[in-house]
Amino acid sequence: MKNLIDDALRSRLVNLRDSEFAAFAERTPRSAAWLSTAAELMPNGVPVSWMAGFWRHRPVVAVSGKGTQFTDLDENTYRDFNLADLSMAAGFAPEAIDRAVAAQSAKGNHFLLPTEDALDVARLLRERFGLPRWQFTLSASGANVDALRVARAFTKRTKVLVFGANYHGHIDEMMWSNGDPNALGMTARAGQDLVTVPFNDIGAVKAALSDDDIAAVLLEPTMTNCGLVMPQPAFHSALRELTRAHGSVLIVDETHTQFAVYGGGTREFSLTPDMVTGGKGIGGGVPVGVFGMSEPLSDYLAANLEGDFMTEPGVPTGGTVYGNALSMAAAKAGLSEVFTKKAHDRVDGLGQQLQNGLQALVDKSGLPFTIDRWGGRCQWRLTTDPPITGYDGYNSIDEDFCDARKGFYANRGIWDAIATSGPAVSFAATQEDVDAFLAVSDEFLAAIT
Ligand code: PMP
Repeated sequence: MKNLIDDALRSRLVNLRDSEFAAFAERTPRSAAWLSTAAELMPNGVPVSWMAGFWRHRPVVAVSGKGTQFTDLDENTYRDFNLADLSMAAGFAPEAIDRAVAAQSAKGNHFLLPTEDALDVARLLRERFGLPRWQFTLSASGANVDALRVARAFTKRTKVLVFGANYHGHIDEMMWSNGDPNALGMTARAGQDLVTVPFNDIGAVKAALSDDDIAAVLLEPTMTNCGLVMPQPAFHSALRELTRAHGSVLIVDETHTQFAVYGGGTREFSLTPDMVTGGKGIGGGVPVGVFGMSEPLSDYLAANLEGDFMTEPGVPTGGTVYGNALSMAAAKAGLSEVFTKKAHDRVDGLGQQLQNGLQALVDKSGLPFTIDRWGGRCQWRLTTDPPITGYDGYNSIDEDFCDARKGFYANRGIWDAIATSGPAVSFAATQEDVDAFLAVSDEFLAAIT
């Protein structure tokens, strides 16, 4: 697949990026001062290095947000189309979640004991994804770690199959597979039990499973961290058949896709995985991760309980603040009041308008780009052909294009997406937000052509 940015366009993008980043620096002096003080206490002045690393311009310090908009320390306001990489899909300060969190917080955040809301959250997840039993963590990364551990214990196998250019969290093993084996701090051991094949390549899956030694296959139903890569029509059914035939646990990671359509890819494509993992925004920013299991896996986990006296070795899952009362209250409100089927339909409609509007502007500009979409989540694809593998998707993204866009939009009150995912419509978005995004996109495309 060929990136369609030619030299002339690249040079316009780089010039635009530089001038927009300079203008952005001028609009954000208080954030700059704060970050420089903070750099005495935190690397790059940020509590988590991603907060600096995700943008090539300097980050801003966030002060408050409501609905789709947030304000920085310099009192600049942005309409958000990144949604904290889908961990704020509910929008800022969603009332239903706020109310539930405040009420629970007044009664205690955590007990290392179940609270009644957990039952409702598990029921709501079962309704969406079909799997009968659920467990909770504090992040999707944590959910994938625990799910893989359960799958390995259950199958008594060690290897895991994933699809190239995937992302399943900052887990050593997964970092190895997602195209970044040279990341600093990684050891070669991290990847030794991983088998990586191209997405949509059922022949490669078949060959990889043929020795009956793969504990689990872990995948997103549609790849979302390398642009958007949809599954080919027969891919999922063939994968299900093969994993069953070879005794591998099929784990579908719905961390992003659960916000694209109600019930995620599992429901949309009528999948029957053994496990589903997720997390991110279901608690409106209150940390929560989830994993669901089939009855055999759940019975196995229940029978191999890990306790504080390790007389009998159990399956080690958990963490002292996992499944806490606050997470459960937030997730219950999120799932039952924010991420409803009706709300998904509304967001899908806004996503469609964003896609159609952007595509019309791209066509008007004469650029040979495509706007992909699933639900409210759109994606600029800078190639001609639809991607089939994760690598194709990754090659359809361009850093200079993304940076120029991000700087340009930020200076006009839009917080655009990180390179690999978005722009995405939030569940708090209205027509006005979509129109604002399209108006700035029209200006942006005019500026680069
Ligand atoms: N799985 C997928 C598919 C993801 O996209 C991500 C995060 N981008 C994760 C897992 C990990 O989520 P978190 O960083 O919230 O743990």
